[in-house]
Amino acid sequence: MTTLNLTYEDDNIFAKILAGDIPSHKVYEDDKTLAFMDVMPQAKGHVLVIPKQKAVELSQLEPEYASAVLMTAKKVMQAQRQVFEREGIIQMQLNGAEAGQTVYHYHVHLIPTNIHQLGKHASTQADMAELAEQAKQLREAIAAAE
Ligand code: AMP
Repeated sequence: MTTLNLTYEDDNIFAKILAGDIPSHKVYEDDKTLAFMDVMPQAKGHVLVIPKQKAVELSQLEPEYASAVLMTAKKVMQAQRQVFEREGIIQMQLNGAEAGQTVYHYHVHLIPTNIHQLGKHASTQADMAELAEQAKQLREAIAAAE
């Protein structure tokens, strides 16, 4: 049995991305959310959406940030459909180590694939040039839809 730790750690990797201390392939940003490419994608075009709130998991997410994350997820999902020509986009979110959560800043995964073809979680590093190109295409698709 594990002990659930809901203390937000300021040095988690997504906090560092939000602070600009480490780079990310940015897809979209507004005052409450940030979306960027997952560096170990479970399918081509895997994006993460995070709130600009210090929440470890869903139980701590404030309503205004929950709403903002979903609105950003909608924009990203529509862009993914267009750019990657996939109808199916998996929306996934893990709460707690037992579920497989590895980064303790709340985030939604948006993965363009079929559930039966979903790759292994947080396993294989992507080509950074490919991620940069995918992020650019998604940014352009989102901008064109605004
Ligand atoms: P979870 O296991 O649900 O907490 O998901 C964490 C996700 O973050 C995994 O899919 C990782 O591949 C991804 N990840 C870890 N480090 C980074 C990073 N520096 N930039 C982008 N994605 C990351």
